[in-house]
Amino acid sequence: MTELPLLLLDVDGPLNPYAAVPQEQPAGYRTHHLRPDFRLNRFPGRPAEEVEPLRLWLNPGHGPELLGLPFELVWATAWQHEANSLIAPLVGLPELPYVPWPRIDQEEPDGLHWKTRVLVEWAAGRPFVWVDDELGPQDTEWIAAHHPGPAATFRIDPRIGLRAEDFATLRGWARAEVGAGA
Ligand SMILES: [Mg+2]
Repeated sequence: MTELPLLLLDVDGPLNPYAAVPQEQPAGYRTHHLRPDFRLNRFPGRPAEEVEPLRLWLNPGHGPELLGLPFELVWATAWQHEANSLIAPLVGLPELPYVPWPRIDQEEPDGLHWKTRVLVEWAAGRPFVWVDDELGPQDTEWIAAHHPGPAATFRIDPRIGLRAEDFATLRGWARAEVGAGA
């Protein structure tokens, strides 16, 4: 049996089109206000209810679409474990493994995204697609040079989020590259 490739999934951008224009709830999405720990930790000592929550737009159809793909889903987001407790129930996903980061949002000297090296190490040679709104061509090149198996980067426009055609693209990649879901 073919081992499923990994789908390394970011939250803000692909699932939450935070930059949607105009600034209003996109069709198919619901508006949520969440206070993850990484937000509360910025205001030590302040009661949670006094911390301005983050506004997210999330699409409850995304979970079923993702679960239907021939991939093993993995969170690759600064939300880390809170993607399971706060995001997963709102998009219709079960608890998933997540990639833990040694550092978050830190600029890398060579212009790589702060997730890139960690993801390649974490994947440990397994085929993967990384879905994120922030990755760039330098990340794609670096992954091609350092990851021994099939891998792809899939940049999502944070004004739009994941679309129906993106799920088709991911399905096509899994079939063509690793024979998964064929
Ligand atoms: Mg993002």
